[in-house]
Amino acid sequence: GRCVVAVDGPSGSGKSTVSRRLAAGIGARYLDTGAMYRAITWAVLRSGVDLTDAEAVAKVAQEVDLRIGTDPQGYGVTADGVSVDAEIRGPEVTQAVSAVAAVPAVRALLVARQQEMIANAGRIVVEGRDIGAVVAPDADLKVYLTASEAARAARRSAEDATDAVVTAADLARRDHLDSTRKTSPLQQASDAVVLDTTELGIDEVVQRLHALLTE
Ligand code: C5P
Repeated sequence: GRCVVAVDGPSGSGKSTVSRRLAAGIGARYLDTGAMYRAITWAVLRSGVDLTDAEAVAKVAQEVDLRIGTDPQGYGVTADGVSVDAEIRGPEVTQAVSAVAAVPAVRALLVARQQEMIANAGRIVVEGRDIGAVVAPDADLKVYLTASEAARAARRSAEDATDAVVTAADLARRDHLDSTRKTSPLQQASDAVVLDTTELGIDEVVQRLHALLTE
């Protein structure tokens, strides 16, 4: 039957790995909403508009043809027909994404797209920052993942092979921007299951969520 799982948390909390593994394990689709904000950011950077010009940023977001797959084993992201899977993980996009994600019109556009994709999927695991609170408040299971700053920075620098000190500084900056913006900041839904992946480890977290869904 229908089943929507919302997974929120800061970057490096293990959201992506946990969400993909859980989706594969329960035969669900997987939606990486961060990749959508990143792809819009790529288009904004390509267009050359001023990142602080909210109206211009929103216009680029409205005009770009953004497509994203939902296969947990490997999904692709394209913007205007260009595959941007590698570019959206690069330092330029990572630097700029929080500013683009703070533009209310960008959020309104992507939240509507995400809700449409969720409505069309039977079973889906959706990861992001505002899924349990805003995108899918009626989700069957809401999860909020945390981890120590050191663990989060170590995971991120292992993923993208950047220096751990640079990664830690970037994470702290992005977390601050993501949790203090006015429109839908990163927040724990009051009915979310909170799990700390520093203590539990990724495998154990996946097992616990799997148990919660199948019990
Ligand atoms: O999860 P990821 O690090 O790829 O997300 C990139 C950025 O996209 C976050 O730092 C945040 O600014 C934004 N984001 C968001 N809402 C979401 C998912 C991501 O604002 N649901």
